[in-house]
Amino acid sequence: MIDEVMKDFYRIAVPLPNSPLKELNSYFIKGEDRNLIIDTGFNRAVCFEAMQEGIEKLEIDLMKTDFFITHMHADHSGLVTRLATESSTIHFSRIDSQVFKRDGGWNTMLEFAGINGFPENELMRALNNHPGFKYSPQTVPDFSLIDDGDIITVGDYRLQCIATPGHTPGHICLYEADKKAFLSGDHILYDITPHIESWAYQINSLQDYIDSLEKVYTLDVDIVLPGHRNFFTDLKGRIDELKEHHESRANETLEVLGHDRKNAYEIAAGMTWDIDCESWDVFPIAQKWFATGEAIAHLRYLESEGRVKRNTDSEIVTFTAA
Ligand SMILES: [Zn+2]
Repeated sequence: MIDEVMKDFYRIAVPLPNSPLKELNSYFIKGEDRNLIIDTGFNRAVCFEAMQEGIEKLEIDLMKTDFFITHMHADHSGLVTRLATESSTIHFSRIDSQVFKRDGGWNTMLEFAGINGFPENELMRALNNHPGFKYSPQTVPDFSLIDDGDIITVGDYRLQCIATPGHTPGHICLYEADKKAFLSGDHILYDITPHIESWAYQINSLQDYIDSLEKVYTLDVDIVLPGHRNFFTDLKGRIDELKEHHESRANETLEVLGHDRKNAYEIAAGMTWDIDCESWDVFPIAQKWFATGEAIAHLRYLESEGRVKRNTDSEIVTFTAA
C-alpha cells in the first residue's frame, strides 16, 4: 500500500508477518537528483516484494537513491544492503553502527539474559526466534555515520537528525521544520507503546528514553510520521501518555517484586503483557525475551531512583525493594 503524505513524499506499508507491529512504514522522498528511502523492512521475501512494488510504482531509480535508517533493528535496517547500489549513501547512527561491528552482540546478550534468570536451556531457542537474528542484513552495510544535529537534504526537504536514545542507544529521528513534520521512527508510536529494553546494566535505557521524550517535546509539529502504524498530530499529548505509561509500568514492576527477592525473568513473568496468550508458560519464546528485556529496563530505572536494590552476590542477579 502506498500513500502520498506530502508533495513527493510517500509512505510504503511493508508487512511484518507474525509481528505485533503488523507493518513497517517506509518513507520515500523523491528529489530531482537523488531520492531518499527511510527504513526498509526485514531482510525477508515478503518485505522485499513490498519494497520492490513501491520502488516500481513510484518509478524510483535505485542508482539515484540514498537511505536513512532510524535505528539498527532489523525491521528498519534489514533490507538496506539488498536495496542499496554502489552509488547509494546509507545514513546511519554512529552509535547504533557499533552493534554491526560487534557481530550483533548476540553472545553478550545471551550471557546477560542467563544471569538475569532466563532459562539456560531456552537461550538458543530464543536467539533462533529473535527477528533481529533472523532478518538482519547479511553483510555489514557501508554506512555514512551521522550524529545529532546533522542535516540531510533531499528535494524540497531539509531533515534535521535528532539523537533520541532509549528504544536503541543510537536511535535518530528526523525533523523537517518548514513542513512541521516529524519522522519519529520507533521513538514515538501512536497505536502501541515503543519497546524499551536493556541488555546491560551500564545502560539506563528507560531514563534515556524519558530524556529523549522531553528533548522533542517542544518541537513545532503538525504531523508525526512514525515507524509503525498510524500518523498522528498531537505530539505533546502522546509524549505525556508515554511518560505516564512507563511510570505505571515501573510501579507495576515494584508490585510484582513485592517483598520477595526475584530475578528479572521472574518479574517479567508476573507483569501484564498485551499479548493474546493465556499464561506466561505459553508465550512465544521471542515475546518472553522481549518481556525480560523490558523488565530489566524498568528494574534498572527503579534502581537508579533508589527504589529497588540489585543483588549481585550470586550467579543470578536478583532484586529486592529498597
Ligand atoms: Zn525498533
